[in-house]
Amino acid sequence: MKTDALAETSLINAGALPRIRITGVKIHQLRAPLTRRFGWSLNWTDQRTATLVEVTTDAGLTGWGDGNWGGERLLQHPELVIGRSPFEVESIFDDLRPEAGHQTRVGEASAGGLDVALWDLCGKILQTPVCDLLGRRYRSRVTPYLTALYRQDWPDLAEGLAEEARYWKSLGWRAMKMKIGYGPETDVRVVRAVREAIGSEIELGVDSNCAYDVGTALALGRRLGEFNLMWWEEPILAEDLTGYARLAAALPMPVASGETLTTDRLIVDYIQPRLVDIVQPDIETVGLTGGRRLSYLCWLNHVRLIPHHWGTAVRAASTLHWMAATPALTSGLHAPPIAFEFDQTESPFRDAVIRQKMEPSPEDGLIAVPAGPGLGVDVEPLAVQEYRARLIEVR
Ligand SMILES: [Mg+2]
Repeated sequence: MKTDALAETSLINAGALPRIRITGVKIHQLRAPLTRRFGWSLNWTDQRTATLVEVTTDAGLTGWGDGNWGGERLLQHPELVIGRSPFEVESIFDDLRPEAGHQTRVGEASAGGLDVALWDLCGKILQTPVCDLLGRRYRSRVTPYLTALYRQDWPDLAEGLAEEARYWKSLGWRAMKMKIGYGPETDVRVVRAVREAIGSEIELGVDSNCAYDVGTALALGRRLGEFNLMWWEEPILAEDLTGYARLAAALPMPVASGETLTTDRLIVDYIQPRLVDIVQPDIETVGLTGGRRLSYLCWLNHVRLIPHHWGTAVRAASTLHWMAATPALTSGLHAPPIAFEFDQTESPFRDAVIRQKMEPSPEDGLIAVPAGPGLGVDVEPLAVQEYRARLIEVR
């Protein structure tokens, strides 16, 4: 064990931070059936799942996060978290790395949900919003884009998607993302149908969830060029670095990827070499600790950061705090925004797990970073209980 890594920080020793100890971690695994199934390039689903991480303390305060919790590493070594101060959040994030620890520069554990819960606790203890703890607050409201437009059991996929896109446009959405990856001919047909349905004024992105090889993606990407896309997400497998370099150099639309990768891999493989135009880390994996590192390195390397988000409102809140603390790439008044992924596919518990409502403002379409200490949201225990399929407790 890395005993020196378990030492308290000097601020805690000096009494500058409250002496509060972590007493337990509860992992709430949620599951709920959908009223109708939907699909994308990899699969169909008839249910939603999520993992909420609750960290308890001896002060009675609890912190919440959504996403990975450290898994086997935490079960085998609870002392890496239990008994420590929430203010050791950055040390805990690094100590949860695989056994080789700090001697291995790349290879962190996925513990984003746990990390977010610790930041939430720090904010609640200090009565400060998380975004103000992360560093500088650059904004208090964020531009959302809509995620919807999956495939459903429609008689005609292109017609079904076009009708759904018209519905979202009628609600005022100015930017939306659709799934593709159904084979090049189908993709061209469905993107054309949606583009014609919403007109040229609405921003449209596509996401193929790594459906293709680089040769197919090159040919398809050139055909999709006429639809003026805001980006193409995951055209190929995330680890095909040479393939991404070829795509980013050749295709007319910005290329995006990174939702499955750790902070370290994103920095080494994607950000430092400026592999793609847009990196899309998910806070479930990178946490706010990794997110803060990514924000600065993206800015320094001129890479757009647009977080991936496919979770509950707890994850939405944490992602918004992260985005509030992320610098824009340029100070241009019309610079491309740091866009927030606003998922509107069916989820019985996404919004139910918190008391607050997070929605775009009817006036200007922007979404506010939740105010108040920590993440600024109150988890609804009854909703967590209602949708909980399994509870894991670490003490
Ligand atoms: Mg995606």
